[in-house]
Amino acid sequence: MNHKPLFVGLWPYNAAMNKPGPVEPGTLWVVATPIGNRADLSQRARELLAVVPMLAVEDSRISQRLLGHRDQPVQMVAVHEHNEKRQIQKLLARLQAGADVALVSDAGTPLISDPGYRLVQAAHEHGIRVSPVPGPCAAIAALSVAGVASDRFWFEGFLPTRSEARRHRLQALASVPVSLIFYVPARDLVDMLEDCAAELGRRRPAALARELTKLHETVLRSDLAALADRCRDDPDQARGEAVVVVAGSDAEPLAAVDPLALARELAAELPPSRAAGVLGRLTGLKRRQAWELIERQRNQDQAGVPEDGASVTSNS
Ligand code: SAM
Repeated sequence: MNHKPLFVGLWPYNAAMNKPGPVEPGTLWVVATPIGNRADLSQRARELLAVVPMLAVEDSRISQRLLGHRDQPVQMVAVHEHNEKRQIQKLLARLQAGADVALVSDAGTPLISDPGYRLVQAAHEHGIRVSPVPGPCAAIAALSVAGVASDRFWFEGFLPTRSEARRHRLQALASVPVSLIFYVPARDLVDMLEDCAAELGRRRPAALARELTKLHETVLRSDLAALADRCRDDPDQARGEAVVVVAGSDAEPLAAVDPLALARELAAELPPSRAAGVLGRLTGLKRRQAWELIERQRNQDQAGVPEDGASVTSNS
């Protein structure tokens, strides 16, 4: 096998060796590609895609467009959610034999709501070097223009498509105190934004970033109710792809309740069955567990045992 190093001169810095020199073959390159504007393909990505012998792709027809006028042959292996495990073996064999592989998705950064993580994981497990060629990512592009706090954020990706499941998920996110980032096909924007307004708060600041880097790029900054109204009134907003960025919850987090302390108070104030019922409702404990806690507190109270569990002794 010819272990001819790739990118001599192009990759002056070999991170694996931590010294100048050519990059060793047998690297899995994780390559970001444009999310709309082809000019956003980086110089490094372009040079890599011109020479790498094997590509792991989602859709070969889409990735073919990235190759330009490449004159060397390239082997493409389609990797998607349903065949990833099987294709990994094929790709690992090539990597272990010394060939470089570039992982690309249809758009943006692989693994970000796209396939690839199992391949990357397997590469690490087999001692194969994994190296990023960073670039466009719709989530980061949207956050960069959203005008909400960007110091910390929660990338949620796609919400469930059924409204009931979506609202359930949003309820779980309602108190997250950092900016939330959602991917959404624009055709679902109205329903999605209405559910967001209902579960996260109508007046929550939010931004809609649609068709970023493309001809009809739109960035709207308002609150969730106003964005939902705008999308309902303007059918153009239902075209293309979108990211919704929502400001984090500014509600003060509730002080955590210590179930033991609560059980003690309730056991002292209420009959056991009511105390266990209230304790279960407030803490989420199962009825039997709540009942046992209340009983324990009552027994301790009757025996004169203090909070820390030490018995009260008397010398008299
Ligand atoms: N891996 C990609 C990335 O790095 O952003 C995301 C892939 S995910 C399958 C596709 C989703 O990304 C779309 O449904 C949309 O939510 C978002 N997206 C992709 N391109 C976009 C664009 N140009 N403008 C707005 N959102 C975009």
